[in-house]
Amino acid sequence: HIGWALIGASNVARQWIVDAIRVQNDSSIVTVLSSSDERGAKFANENAIPAHVTDIGAILADDRVNAVYISTTNQFHHVQTIAAAAAGKHVLCEKPLALRVTDAHDMIAACRKAGVVLGINHHLRCNAMHQELRRLLAEGVIGRLNAVRVFHANFLAHALHGWRINDAGGGGLILDSTIHDIDTLRFLIGSNPTHVMAMTQSGRLAHDGMEDGIMVIMRFPGDVLVQIHGSYTVPFSEGGMEFYGSDGVLVGRDCMSQRPAGRLFIRNADGEREIPIHHHNLYHYALATFSAAVRGRGQPAATGEDGLAALTIALAIRESALTGRQIEVDIP
Ligand code: NDP
Repeated sequence: HIGWALIGASNVARQWIVDAIRVQNDSSIVTVLSSSDERGAKFANENAIPAHVTDIGAILADDRVNAVYISTTNQFHHVQTIAAAAAGKHVLCEKPLALRVTDAHDMIAACRKAGVVLGINHHLRCNAMHQELRRLLAEGVIGRLNAVRVFHANFLAHALHGWRINDAGGGGLILDSTIHDIDTLRFLIGSNPTHVMAMTQSGRLAHDGMEDGIMVIMRFPGDVLVQIHGSYTVPFSEGGMEFYGSDGVLVGRDCMSQRPAGRLFIRNADGEREIPIHHHNLYHYALATFSAAVRGRGQPAATGEDGLAALTIALAIRESALTGRQIEVDIP
């Protein structure tokens, strides 16, 4: 049996993860941690969770808890992962893994030392369309890859106008959203960018110079150029990806959301054709791979190392935006 504790009475837990845990075999939610007794009680009550606590120590000492899902705001991921690992709990952590690369490194080391699984919830690689796109790219159906464009602009839902646009310590578009684009590109292309450059916007929604819009250019091995447009402030835009190869183009439409959505098209000398996708819930898939890893089978969909790489690249992008320089990416 996998007994879960939710660390963080968050929106993402409520919307996706409670259900994703409960559809797994032999899994249950034991308790939820909130820094507020009142918020914790409300969350537990609304989600039929039998207990709530305000002290992480109660979770660490609870033998019924084998795994924790950490979805507090980003500055807490580091210390809570280290504490959970030291108590022998498996950790599924939200992105960004940490705010600093050295912290992410320490989290991986702590989980390895404790012999617990560390997974990170980069959900887009769990989308069936991206999984099919990855397979087709690896098969070489569009020949030699030349360039990629990513469209990930939307209007941040009003309910989310909190720390994302107000907390210069842990918020901002890059660590919230662009980091998902990075993880998805790593997953699809199968390598890390070597160089990045970026320009950001600020002030349409986010405060204090925090970014709420971005354009990124990256160079991947094999001289592949990649462009990302990300935004919190663009309504009516559709998320997508285009892969340009020597023999054709692969186009993913409506494929950058949390929903099991996305349509895939191939365009080449034979014309344009839609590739059928059998969608599944992204979070169910993430929890299924994580639960299997806890039971000794395989790895989580995204590992701690994936989280570390995505964070390293995201911080290089932020450094480029701040300095106006091209940054060489060095994944530790
Ligand atoms: P929320 O803002 O809903 O929750 C984050 C924390 O904020 C909670 O732990 C909670 O603290 C605190 N909080 C919530 N409501 C209030 C309130 N009314 N007043 C004061 N504090 C409050 O965060 P999200 O769910 O949007 O994001 C949580 C994490 O998950 C982030 O790391 C984010 O990057 C990630 N995320 C990942 C997604 C994915 O698909 N992979 C999607 C969305 C987010 P407490 O627990 O102490 O009550």
